[in-house]
Amino acid sequence: MRQLVASAATLCLLVAMVAPNSNQVTGLEACAANDSPDCSLYGTGLYKTGESAASVDDTFRGPTGTLEVPQRFLMGPGPGNANPRILAAQTLPLLGHMHPPFLAIMDEIQAGLRYLFQTSSNYTLLASGTGHAGMEMAVANLLEPGDTVLVGVNGIWGERVADMAERFGTKVVTLHTEAGTALSLADLTAAVELHRPALLFLTQGESSTGVRQSLAGVGELCRRNGALLLVDAVASLGGVPLFADAWQIDAVYSGSQKCLSAPPGAAPLMLNERAMAKVRGRSSKVRSYYFDLLLVGDYWGWYGSRSYHHTGMVSMWYAVREALAIVSEEGLEAGWRRHEAAHRQLWEGLSQLGLEPFVAEERDRLATVNTIKVPAGVDWAALCKHALDVYAVEVSGGLGPTAGKVWRVGLMGYNAKPANVELVLAAFRSGLALQGFKGGISAAAASA
Ligand code: PMP
Repeated sequence: MRQLVASAATLCLLVAMVAPNSNQVTGLEACAANDSPDCSLYGTGLYKTGESAASVDDTFRGPTGTLEVPQRFLMGPGPGNANPRILAAQTLPLLGHMHPPFLAIMDEIQAGLRYLFQTSSNYTLLASGTGHAGMEMAVANLLEPGDTVLVGVNGIWGERVADMAERFGTKVVTLHTEAGTALSLADLTAAVELHRPALLFLTQGESSTGVRQSLAGVGELCRRNGALLLVDAVASLGGVPLFADAWQIDAVYSGSQKCLSAPPGAAPLMLNERAMAKVRGRSSKVRSYYFDLLLVGDYWGWYGSRSYHHTGMVSMWYAVREALAIVSEEGLEAGWRRHEAAHRQLWEGLSQLGLEPFVAEERDRLATVNTIKVPAGVDWAALCKHALDVYAVEVSGGLGPTAGKVWRVGLMGYNAKPANVELVLAAFRSGLALQGFKGGISAAAASA
C-alpha cells in the first residue's frame, strides 16, 4: 500500500504550493488522491514548487547489462576497424574542455593536421561531427547567399554538397561526369571560365564510385579565375597523396573513421589564408551558429585567444590525437605506399577470380575504396551476407549511381594490410563459388 509519508515540514511545503490555474493538479492534491506513487519524494527537494509528481513509466526501462558487440572486419567504405591504440586512448580520463592540458592536446591535433594536410596554414581544426560536419562547416562559411558555386559531381558527394549549398542560399551549378570516371581538367576549365564561381568543389576520393579525382592543375585554375577550391578528402586523406599548399587547395575536410582508423565523430578541416579572407570578409553572418568558424576557430586558438564555443569532444579528440601520432610515426609516404600495395594485392586476387573494376581507367581508381563490378547472374547481396556470416567480413554494395552494380571494398588505415586483403579475397572466392560463378560466367547466367 502506498502511504503518504510527509513530515511536518513536507506538509508545509506541499500546502504552500499554489496551482497556477485551477485545472492543474498540485503535488499535494495528487498525493491526497493517492494516485501518485512518488508522494514519498515530496520534501526531498526533488520537485520544485508546483511540479506534480507523475509516476515513472517503466515501459522502456533499460538497456541493462554490459554492452557486447560482434567482432567484425569492417572492409566496406567505412567506418573501418579502429586501431586498438586509438580505442585505448579514448579510455583515458576526461579533461575539462578548457583545461590547459586539453588545450595542449588541441594544439597537438592542429599540428598533426598540418602534417596530414601538408599545409603550413594556421587554420586547422576538428569539426565536431562526422565528415558531413566538415562538409557543412566548409559550405556554411565559404559561401554566401548569392554566390555561385560550381560543384563537380562524380558520385553522391557532389550531389550532397550541391544540396547543402542550395540550402545556404547560393546559386549552384553542377558539372557531371559519368559514374566511374573523373572530371577532366579541360571540362573543369571550361566550366570555371564560363560560370566564374566563387568556389569550385571536388571530391578527391569518391567512395560511391571508387574514383580518385585528379587535382592536378585545378588549384591553379581556381587562382586564375578568382575561385576558391574546396576538396572533400573524407575517403582519401591519409590513404593517397594530398598536398594542400603545393596543390593550392584553399579548404579541405575529411573524417576520422576512414584512413585515420579512429571512430566516426571528428572531421579534420583546413582553410588557408585565401579561404579565411572570404570568411572574414563575409557581408552576412554564417547561417549556422555551431559551425561559424569565427566562433569555433576562437576555441581552437585561431585568433590568438581561446574562448568557449561548445564543449570539445574530449575522448573523440584523444582518439584523433592518437591517430595523428600513428600517421606521423609511419610517415605519410610510407602510409600512401601501404595503401597502394593493399589495393594492388586486392586487384591481383580479384582478377584471378574473374572480377573486374568498375572504374575503367586505372589512373582514376581510388586505392582506399575499391568498386568491383557485380557479374551478371551473381547476387551481390548474397555474397555480402556470406562474407559477413562466414568470414565476419563486411564488404558493401554500391551507393547512389553504383547501387546494385558494384561491391565496395575499403582498404583504409589500419585495415590496409595483407592479411585483411587475403580475408576479403577468401570471402569473395567462396561466396562466388557458392553461386556457381566461374570467372566470367555464373551458373545462373550459363543456364539461362
Ligand atoms: N564524403 C565522402 C567521400 C565520404 O565517403 C563520406 C562518408 N562515406 C562522407 C563525405 C560523409 O562522411 P560521414 O558519413 O562521416 O558524415
